[in-house]
Amino acid sequence: SSSAPKNQNSSNMAPIETQQYDYIVLGGGSGGSGSARRAAGWYGKKTLIVESGRSGGTCVNVGCVPKKMTWNFATINEMLHIGKNYGYDIPDKIAMDYTHFKNTRDAVIKRLNGAYERNWGREGIDLVQGRAGFVEPHTIEVKLADGSGTARYTAPHILLATGGRPSVPSVPGAEHGITSDGFFELEELPPKIAVVGAGYIAVELAGVLNAVDVETHMFIRGENFLRKFDPMVQKTMTDRYEAAGVKLHRNHGGFKEVQLIRDGKGKDRLLKLIGHDGSEIEVNELLWAVGRAPEVEDLNLDIPGVKLNSGGHVVVDEYQNTSVEGVYALGDVTGQAELTPVAIAAGRQLGSRLFGPPELKHSKISYENIPTVVFSHPEVGCIGLTEPEARQRYGDDKIKIYHTKFTAMFYDVGLSPEEKAKNPTEMKIICAGPQEKVVGLHILGLGVGEMLQGFGVAIKMGATKQDFDSCVAIHPTSSEEIVTMR
Ligand code: FAD
Ligand code: NDP
Repeated sequence: SSSAPKNQNSSNMAPIETQQYDYIVLGGGSGGSGSARRAAGWYGKKTLIVESGRSGGTCVNVGCVPKKMTWNFATINEMLHIGKNYGYDIPDKIAMDYTHFKNTRDAVIKRLNGAYERNWGREGIDLVQGRAGFVEPHTIEVKLADGSGTARYTAPHILLATGGRPSVPSVPGAEHGITSDGFFELEELPPKIAVVGAGYIAVELAGVLNAVDVETHMFIRGENFLRKFDPMVQKTMTDRYEAAGVKLHRNHGGFKEVQLIRDGKGKDRLLKLIGHDGSEIEVNELLWAVGRAPEVEDLNLDIPGVKLNSGGHVVVDEYQNTSVEGVYALGDVTGQAELTPVAIAAGRQLGSRLFGPPELKHSKISYENIPTVVFSHPEVGCIGLTEPEARQRYGDDKIKIYHTKFTAMFYDVGLSPEEKAKNPTEMKIICAGPQEKVVGLHILGLGVGEMLQGFGVAIKMGATKQDFDSCVAIHPTSSEEIVTMR
């Protein structure tokens, strides 16, 4: 692949080989891979992926995949405990081998890394491992990961799909804590942990830890967590976590210092967290889950002149165009709906728009009605508007709310009221206008992660409450409530 035009290196005037591609994709994560495969696999474009880390990006290595596997691991423990109520002879404390699980999970990820690379290879995509940054408006330089130096590449179309990384607050000693990246490296579970944050990652990982009997303290700035979600979700889930044993520190003012008392792993590690109010707590691990920042620093975006917004995300239009012609961005680096299928879909649409037939010249992804699931305990599923958003958009008199809360049959096995509070199922349908078009669906409980996808299709198609009701219920399930709610 080197019908290489020559450039001049400004520092020593030696010629630098610059390899030419049709499409250069920076980042081999969800979005970058999706787009490169569309360009090369479907439209035969000469495509290069530059990846500085492990193939597959965040989702595969330190995101969705290890997270969902860990959720499964934790859910098994919860299910075993309920098994007692069904008559199984199960001890209060069930021995578990986290290290075994971690090794199993690592092996799955390694296999996926290989699968990504094989798919790229099969479709003729070149992979260069290293860190990329612009050196000219349409030329990038890669610091090669094998230490052999640098290489330059140019293309008329360059995609920024470099994702993001976890943020850490600027607190003295913050580096003694871990982020979600570090969580997936833990070889053993800490007996006691502090989780700081209130979004997807804080709630998912605190839920997992609590479910595997780690003493879990959650520090949240507000009264409830998941504050961007419907109020029903916020309240029921925060209360449920507390009922299930998570030690919630609501309206917390943050920490002013983190001290490392004892270095080590698991129970041998000890940190002291000192609050702004002078309060102190000792824990074996500290997990920061306070949001993510876009990965842009090394890209030298000032060279092409790509604009960033106030949060540091790359500004794009609805077609993923940046402010510079021939440079595109999608996925987490743009801060739009930071979800894997969103990045993949945006990448594929962009590939079709740039390289596909004329009828696809306006391909783009719709950011409306994206379904999402929080893999909390229990899961939460949402699509469309929250109740406050719907009231604001349509007006109170145009909105009708359907709501139900119950205990799923699975848990109706002689649990005490306290135990039942740990296992809520709750659903809300938000309808707008005289046709009662469904503009929001919010569900939490056992199995809702699998339940939402099909309802998502219906809502994308513009379903009304009557359409929901016209579908015969499947009995006995929890999802039948969605088509029978009064
Ligand atoms: P990424 O997948 O992050 O890929 C970017 C790639 O670019 C990385 O591999 C990086 O190494 C590389 N890169 C960065 N800078 C450079 C550079 N200068 N040169 C070369 N390469 C570079 N989403 C869901 O839909 N469902 C979930 O259950 C879910 N769970 C999650 C759990 C966690 C803990 C986290 C952190 C995220 C989760 N997400 C989930 C979000 C999802 O992982 C991201 O939205 C998705 O990975 C974004 O894809 P991307 O292509 O934009 O970026
Ligand atoms: P989120 O944006 O979801 O949540 C971060 C939260 O942390 C904020 O909402 C805020 O909540 C809280 N926070 C911010 N700063 C501080 C602070 N200094 N101290 C205490 N709390 C703070 O980010 P995540 O990192 O959890 O996840 C990033 C994105 O990745 C998600 O938005 C999601 O798009 C994606 N993701 C998707 C998953 C899925 O699909 N299941 C799973 C995991 C991640 P508040 O304002 O209430 O204090």
